[in-house]
Amino acid sequence: MKWEVVIGLETHAQLSTASKIFSGASTAFGAEPNTQACAVDLALPGVLPVLNKGAVERAIRFGLAVDANINRRSVFARKNYFYPDLPKGYQISQYELPVVEGGSIKIHVGEMEKTVRLTRAHLEEDAGKSLHEDFQGSTGIDLNRAGTPLLEIVSEPDMRSAAEAVAYAKKLHALVRWIDICDGNMQEGSFRCDANVSVRPEGSDKLGTRCEIKNLNSFRFLEQAINFEVRRQIEIIEDGGKIVQETRLYDPDKGETRSMRSKEDAHDYRYFPDPDLLPLEVTEPLISETKENLPELPDQRQQRYVSELGLSHNEATALTANRDIGDYFESVALSSLKSGESLGNADFKLCANWVINDIAAKMNEEENLPSWAFRVSSDTVGRIILRIREGAINARTGKNLLARFWEEGRRNSEGRGNYIHGGAPDETDEIIREEGLGQVSDAGAIEKIVDEVLAANAQQVADYQAGKEKAFNSLVGQAMKATKGKANPQQVNEILKRKLAQ
Ligand code: ADP
Ligand code: MG
Repeated sequence: MKWEVVIGLETHAQLSTASKIFSGASTAFGAEPNTQACAVDLALPGVLPVLNKGAVERAIRFGLAVDANINRRSVFARKNYFYPDLPKGYQISQYELPVVEGGSIKIHVGEMEKTVRLTRAHLEEDAGKSLHEDFQGSTGIDLNRAGTPLLEIVSEPDMRSAAEAVAYAKKLHALVRWIDICDGNMQEGSFRCDANVSVRPEGSDKLGTRCEIKNLNSFRFLEQAINFEVRRQIEIIEDGGKIVQETRLYDPDKGETRSMRSKEDAHDYRYFPDPDLLPLEVTEPLISETKENLPELPDQRQQRYVSELGLSHNEATALTANRDIGDYFESVALSSLKSGESLGNADFKLCANWVINDIAAKMNEEENLPSWAFRVSSDTVGRIILRIREGAINARTGKNLLARFWEEGRRNSEGRGNYIHGGAPDETDEIIREEGLGQVSDAGAIEKIVDEVLAANAQQVADYQAGKEKAFNSLVGQAMKATKGKANPQQVNEILKRKLAQ
């Protein structure tokens, strides 16, 4: 029997407001326990919640970005349950009428493109935290997180593998950061996923019984948890058993999921509209204003890079991983222009290659570097590329300059919260001049060097003539070395080819 995997994700994105969703207490992460819980968060008698407009605006921004319906009227409801980290005895959430309904997210897995439908996105408050470490025989309660605004984004059960679920989660993660509604910090719990997983016989259109794996806060855990859960469910069914609908937890150390509690049904929560809060009315002007202020979205930008700049799909994807890298790329391209010049597709491709293969790679080498923390400014990179395009320096020299400026930027920024760029556009030109890094394009000079290299390497010349292509590269390398890397590599190639053919 072949099995089909069915996955739907519920994602909690912490909205990046300075204060909580129903109180004025700070949402900043990492404060001493219970220093950021006010009377409302503690549920003292007589207090009343007041809705934070910033949270509503962020929810609307999300809804518009995924092409969803913004409900003009939505309702806050009480979700009742007992837990020590929930002082009110209920969580304020949205139930029957969420602020955002529908919409979709496009994902790519390998060559395949797929649309994952969204069910809804609703506003709610987070609960506090139970602390088990540092307490013997008891549990500590930290209510700093209580009342932190969340957007819970619920997908339809449209994903068919762990890889699709991860692609969806990554796309969503990039989007909420792109539109600036959530900082996306997964270690701090600002973005976490619950994975609903079931299996069914291939070809069946009835959904199987699902289990929900709670609070996955890394893409790797999401993938591992789903894969484990799929194997577990198939094994049970093939052994003649039945899946029990339940909530499970993933243990990354053991690499397995285990039962946490049997799944509550909605009626267990005794949802009802919160009498302390009026229904949320979203006005047309707020929607149109938010729409106008929405930045170019990742999919739109990716499309533009392909159709207008002539980049490949992969290049466009890499340059839209976040808004900073794309903005940086565009600014590098502009700075690589001579005045009055306009760039062609080949020039954009050259800049894209620099940003992807050099800048992005260098950023990846450093742990926890914010996406905007470029060690070299875009105008300096643009200047280096311009000098290469003009033939003033060769690509190798350009890369050396970049590496040197990058290191300088890294050193300058060490121990500081802000980032200081290494190198400057004019410094680029000064160094080229003062250190004599200009490209050697004098055919006579290169020919002389090539002659010397050929004379000194009779064996490699023989190898090349016997059909060993590699020997040619080695000869080019030696000629480049003899010019301290400054020769025009194309000329070296041509002259060498010509001489070897003689
Ligand atoms: P609840 O709110 O009780 O968790 P929902 O019906 O709202 O339940 O569904 C929550 C999530 O579970 C959604 O993302 C949905 O797509 C997904 N889901 C529902 N049924 C299944 C199923 N049989 N297999 C996998 N995912 C499912
Ligand atoms: Mg659920």
